Amino acid sequence: MKPNRSFTTTCLQKQCIAPSVYELRFGKPDTFAFMAGQFVLFDVPLLDNEADIQPRAYSIASTPTEQDLLFVIKLVPNGRASRWIEQALDAGMSVRMQGSFGNFKLDSAPEKQYLFLATGTGIAPIRSQILSALKEQKDTRQMHLLFGVLKREDLFWMEEWRGLEEQYPNFHAHISCLSGEADWHGETGSLQERLPQILQEIMTPSVYICGAPITVKELKEQCLALGIPKSDVHFESYV
Ligand SMILES: Cc1cc2nc3c(=O)[nH]c(=O)nc-3n(C[C@H](O)[C@H](O)[C@H](O)COP(=O)(O)OP(=O)(O)OC[C@H]3O[C@@H](n4cnc5c(N)ncnc54)[C@H](O)[C@@H]3O)c2cc1C
Repeated sequence: MKPNRSFTTTCLQKQCIAPSVYELRFGKPDTFAFMAGQFVLFDVPLLDNEADIQPRAYSIASTPTEQDLLFVIKLVPNGRASRWIEQALDAGMSVRMQGSFGNFKLDSAPEKQYLFLATGTGIAPIRSQILSALKEQKDTRQMHLLFGVLKREDLFWMEEWRGLEEQYPNFHAHISCLSGEADWHGETGSLQERLPQILQEIMTPSVYICGAPITVKELKEQCLALGIPKSDVHFESYV
């Protein structure tokens, strides 16, 4: 018998954390199981016709042992789910979802060092993977996160990354804004520009890439061109 993959969950919290970016928290149904890096499909109604339902994929940003399901979602102009999230979804609402799905999972060969590359809300499955590895698997290998956004105002969860760096000496967060801004004293440039330099610090990387399709494609090709075996380049594209 196939396991039941369809669940009803309740939205617990909806918060705008950066321009057009919402952090959403849902209750975790008792029998719902997933692995770090996987995603769910939400049933998304059309705003003007609730009977018209389509699925939309969202990566789970929380870890399997965290109490709630956490998501971070970037709204796109006139998108079905984007309009629904902004204008209809609210704390207390019941929502149908299916899951869990996906093969963007940690391949925990202990001799490899993790390199996580994320742009924007591509950080969602990567947060789950990093926290899972550090807190749940007590993994002590070197882990580098390269998180890139366009502008400083697009950054979120910064305190959490800095807190993890303090707590876990094997975790290093490199946060980069594409454009240098007067009040930004951190790293600048694209992930593509930063990648060769960061790879000099990592002997045998196991790479995890997530974000917009074009960036994911370019980073993947760059990793392969820099000699990383295909089996060590894992990716999820937000198509
Ligand atoms: C495995 C996976 C995981 C994902 N996880 C996340 C995540 O964690 N966070 C996240 O932010 N996103 C994630 N995504 C992306 C997400 O699934 C949606 O694609 C995104 O939120 C846009 O959905 P939407 O319904 O708002 O837009 P859609 O309605 O799908 O529209 C997408 C775009 O097409 C345009 N469009 C729509 N209809 C038309 C039309 N008829 N003609 C021309 N243009 C049109 C819209 O204006 C919009 O720009 C993930 C995708 C995948 C595949």
